[in-house]
Amino acid sequence: MPASAPTATALARAVQARETTPQALLDIFRARAEATRDLNALVSLNPGADAAAARVTARLEAGETLPLAGVPVVLKDNISAAGTRTTCGSRLLANYVSPYDAAVVERLTRAGAVIVGKANMDEFGMGSSTESSASGPTLNPWDRERVPGGSSGGSAVAVASGLTPLALGSDTGGSVRQPAALTGVYGLKPTYGRVSRYGLVAYASSLDQIGPLARSAADLALVMNVIAGHDPRDATSLEAPPAFRVGTPEDVRGLRVGVIRESLEGNTPGVEAALGATLDALRGAGASVREVSLPSLRHAVATYYLIAMPEASSNLARFDGTVYGERVAAPDLVHSMTQTRERGFGREVQRRILIGTYALSSGYYDAYYSQAMKVRRLIADEFTRTFGDVDLLVTPTSPFPAFRRGEKSEDPLAMYAADVDTVAVNLAGLPALSVPAGFETVEGGVRLPVGVQFIAPALADERLTLLAGGLEGTGAVRVELAPSYGG
Ligand code: GLN
Repeated sequence: MPASAPTATALARAVQARETTPQALLDIFRARAEATRDLNALVSLNPGADAAAARVTARLEAGETLPLAGVPVVLKDNISAAGTRTTCGSRLLANYVSPYDAAVVERLTRAGAVIVGKANMDEFGMGSSTESSASGPTLNPWDRERVPGGSSGGSAVAVASGLTPLALGSDTGGSVRQPAALTGVYGLKPTYGRVSRYGLVAYASSLDQIGPLARSAADLALVMNVIAGHDPRDATSLEAPPAFRVGTPEDVRGLRVGVIRESLEGNTPGVEAALGATLDALRGAGASVREVSLPSLRHAVATYYLIAMPEASSNLARFDGTVYGERVAAPDLVHSMTQTRERGFGREVQRRILIGTYALSSGYYDAYYSQAMKVRRLIADEFTRTFGDVDLLVTPTSPFPAFRRGEKSEDPLAMYAADVDTVAVNLAGLPALSVPAGFETVEGGVRLPVGVQFIAPALADERLTLLAGGLEGTGAVRVELAPSYGG
């Protein structure tokens, strides 16, 4: 365990008070990154980080007050930052360098944060284990035989093992929340449109959303107030200025919480126990808890994959070697394109492009894609109806804690089924937060983190940091640094 792994809130305050410097924090990050290399959380370091730290120092000397002064932040490797490689975990983009900053990077930089590195991920965000990366798998620091979840596994491990207090991931069907749960940190997926996707490499555009991973409710509120907000460069961006703050147990009093019945089956004992303890804490703080049913959720996983794969097949059409990334030379253009895609994309990505193209093809469109869009609407309507009676919904984030590497990687359906608790939220465009809610002890006495997911109505993202702060106040949240730091 490190001597300390302070929060972003504490670090920014210390930098602002001149108790430390952006460069000193960058040096500490680098030492920790070196000490945890075996976890394979990072795929590259930002070559511009020293210059960025110096710019923050100059701004502080000029008298600026910066909410994230000098705070080191890691980005999932599908978020563009000028001058950094953005590989998306793919061979095809192994040497692709971003020419510009994503909107979230502009905002973080303006707030004084320093982008220190890029985090490992499942190729193009397609996976739930961070095993499909061209850079090799990321290990779960709680048990190195196990996966950290995915696809933002590198971002989650960076925060869980104290490399940085904050990381950004992207969440198309759970990729921020599920790795957060499996590594014991917070992961927030904002309302669709709340955070600009300008500069995020698209996987499934109607579902993708950038979100933060953090170790405290205060840090979540802090970073959301920085990254959320309207951006004309993302056509789906909403006019909804962020007003996040940390709650206290007082904010939990009177909350009406609905437990989704459909999520109560098939969970491990540790997941059941963590959910039960969280509900007890809510009741103890004066919330009312009751069961609600959303029957369409049974179809969420099938619906999600029949929408995500077609969108992916369209979005990934641009990677043919002519503009971005690697290009395999061939006597003619068609062979160059097909060879580039055959060698550049991994197996799971190829599978999804094939299935997605099939589901969109004439003769099958009505049976698959169009049908999925109708079920998507039913799911969204059920959420809207349910939110007439409750303020928040709750489910496990994942039915089980971290699974073993290789356990599901040869069985795509088993991997897809791991997303059962998270994908409906993206289909409905809602905000949701995975809260570190305890541990499950498995064979060999290994302790694995367990997450509980809270879902809020659209644009009520702020409710989630109120709740998280409230739960921290009751002691129901259990954030611990992963034991292997420095190991
Ligand atoms: N596991 C889901 C998928 O593979 C979600 C991934 C994500 O949110 N990027 O599509």
